[in-house]
Amino acid sequence: MSSIEDKLRDFEAQSSVLEPSEVQRNDWMKQVTEYAGSFIDALEDDHAFVDGYQRDNPFDNVDFNTTVDMKEALQFLKEEVDSIGLNPASGGHVGYIPGGGIYPTAIGDYLAAITNRYAGIFFGGPGAVRLENKLIQWMCSLIGFPESAHGNLCSGGSIANLIAICTARDKKAIRSKMVDQSVVYLTAQTHHCVQKALRIAGLDEVIIRYIDMDAQYRMDVKALEKQLKQDTSDGLRPFLIVASAGTTDAGAVDPLDPIADLSEAYDCWLHVDGAYGGFFILVDELKDRFQGIERADSVAIDPHKGLFLSYGLGVILIKDVEAMYQSHFYKASYMQDAQERFSDLSPADLSPELTKHYRGLRLWLPLRLFGIAPFKAALAEKYYLAQYFYREIQKLGFEVGPKPDLSVVLYRYADTDIDLNLFNKQLTQEIHKDGRVFLSSTNLQGEEWIRAAILSFRTHRSTIDRCLEMIADCVERVKLQLTA
Ligand SMILES: *Cc1c(COP(=O)(O)O)cnc(C)c1O
Repeated sequence: MSSIEDKLRDFEAQSSVLEPSEVQRNDWMKQVTEYAGSFIDALEDDHAFVDGYQRDNPFDNVDFNTTVDMKEALQFLKEEVDSIGLNPASGGHVGYIPGGGIYPTAIGDYLAAITNRYAGIFFGGPGAVRLENKLIQWMCSLIGFPESAHGNLCSGGSIANLIAICTARDKKAIRSKMVDQSVVYLTAQTHHCVQKALRIAGLDEVIIRYIDMDAQYRMDVKALEKQLKQDTSDGLRPFLIVASAGTTDAGAVDPLDPIADLSEAYDCWLHVDGAYGGFFILVDELKDRFQGIERADSVAIDPHKGLFLSYGLGVILIKDVEAMYQSHFYKASYMQDAQERFSDLSPADLSPELTKHYRGLRLWLPLRLFGIAPFKAALAEKYYLAQYFYREIQKLGFEVGPKPDLSVVLYRYADTDIDLNLFNKQLTQEIHKDGRVFLSSTNLQGEEWIRAAILSFRTHRSTIDRCLEMIADCVERVKLQLTA
């Protein structure tokens, strides 16, 4: 019988691969860097969309009791993950809301994973927490929030919106008994993650008013006022208004200032969803559109969209930190060493997470290495690319939606006798089949529209020209199909 000491020696030897040697580490990193390099080099020529949906599931045959070397592991990723479906890293991704994935995001993630700083609690990771808090302060100042405001770095816009909604619910004391008499104000263009967050927050039975919009898809303030008045006189409790600073469908910015007036007058929580559009406030020409955002109670903003980071970073900014704390703090005896209230707030007290990704570094590093100026320029470029596309697409026989507030253009082919919905649906399919550039469609009041959402840092004039060429080709192909 072996002793405990023998067992320890055995198990230590068997698990020693978990700490690879320097030679091993360098060999892996060399291969990984090469893989990343050739991925980036091929982006310009590769399609933005490849339909890989029909194939058999290659993951079925993967057995974790066997191993492969790095070369084989990378080859598998290349074939089964990185060359099919949408390519969000491509400048040709002009659908949904793109971003791209700037290189230092990856280095930030790499270092965050190696150093594995504990960014949940100030006591454990004072440097990491201060780094994240500094980023939050920077974003607060960007939108004109006071220094007393704070926030949280989370995984994306959906969680950012959820944190705001939970805070609003508690601050406005919407207890379970009152849910079905409490009212939330949205528009039909509010991002669906808001309804999802309401449900998760236990507010599924709340009354939702979808306020009418003007021709630009912006919330109609008069209609909002009328509804607030009506609901109040009916004895209901208006408590939350969600405005958008850049809708996903149309890029529309709601009139934030007059909405803030109404929110104050009716004692509501004003949440602004700027997940897509918020960072356009950096662009001098566009600042005015955001007037009133500083009066919101909370703002969601997504660096993995508007600052071109790889997926995995959304931010919620909240003026009333105490309210945010009351909705999210925790106490546990096994955390007693860490539980003092330091001057620096801990992310774990302001979000549903405890142990969390040290995700600040993926934003910190790009900001330190590049500064803010190139981000401003890239955002301005996206705005003008949208203006350019808006002008050029009309020359191809397309009808357009409103002049873009930010960088989303709506258009549909109209120079045909064929039913426009049928034609444009088919056109979207043809565009997906082509794949040189990826575009997505939407349905607005029963009408099929195609979108160009321009927000990848890799999308430039040449990409948009390629996009227009592709669209013209696809129109011809659809005409042939539908008249055949
Ligand atoms: C993308 C988006 C969201 C959701 O953000 P995720 O980061 O995808 O979770 C919310 N609101 C708006 C306006 C968006 O564009």
